[in-house]
Amino acid sequence: MSLNFAQICQALAKNGVANPRLETRLIMAFVLQCQPAEVFSDSALTTEQSRQADEILRRRLQHEPLDKIFGHREFYKFDFIVDKNVLSPRPDTEILVEEAVSLARDNMSILDLGTGSGCIIASILSEHPQMQGTAVDISAASLDIARRNAENLGISPRLRFIRADWFNADICQTIGQKFDMIVSNPPYIPTKDIATLEAEVKNNDPLAALDGGDDGLQSYRRIAEIAPQLLNAKGYILLEVGINQAHEVAAIFTLQGLKLLKILPDLSGIERCVVLQKA
Ligand code: GLN
Repeated sequence: MSLNFAQICQALAKNGVANPRLETRLIMAFVLQCQPAEVFSDSALTTEQSRQADEILRRRLQHEPLDKIFGHREFYKFDFIVDKNVLSPRPDTEILVEEAVSLARDNMSILDLGTGSGCIIASILSEHPQMQGTAVDISAASLDIARRNAENLGISPRLRFIRADWFNADICQTIGQKFDMIVSNPPYIPTKDIATLEAEVKNNDPLAALDGGDDGLQSYRRIAEIAPQLLNAKGYILLEVGINQAHEVAAIFTLQGLKLLKILPDLSGIERCVVLQKA
């Protein structure tokens, strides 16, 4: 028997998926190889498409998010390859990208700490065709994904990749230069809260991209220690933060001599992005 819109939608709804109609549309569009807007509730699937949809549904009902099943996700203005080795790009992070794009000038250099899929730095470099960037990550597998994304966006010649751990004592020597802008979406979930995250996140985003230590702020403390050495005079740093972390994070950085410029809310009104500048 061939699967249809109503059956997929019902299965998703029964299993607690928050937007079953939208996800059904995305699944049907994926197997029909059309745009989501071209899917109708009476769109028919062939036997082969139905088999594919069934396989996607099976994975989705085990709480695997659609972007990881499809292998890509839209973020900001672009499409990014994703897999289990990278944090799925979130719409909340587009706030940071928009702010970075507006502060950036073409001759600036930019460093992304914990680049993951590369979605942040690749988006910024795409908007500023003369900018040069460096992307750092501890995970070789995530750097492979980031490299492929840079390639797809045509910015590879302007982006250098470094595999390194920012807790290493010699991280600044490893990176080896100063920048006009640093961006980072570091892990910021307090360790004890990881268990309470939804399965889509907890089981499908890499733990190393989520776990921010006891109070969630461990990576910010380290980045604040190294940022002054990595920034040129007047250089900017833009940080994504978790719920209720913005002011504490700002304080961690102002203690290192950086000046707080602004705190920006995300689409849900949560303070999400802290912007500071070196004197
Ligand atoms: N935004 C992610 C979440 O809330 C966390 C990402 C991070 O720790 N940087 O699940």
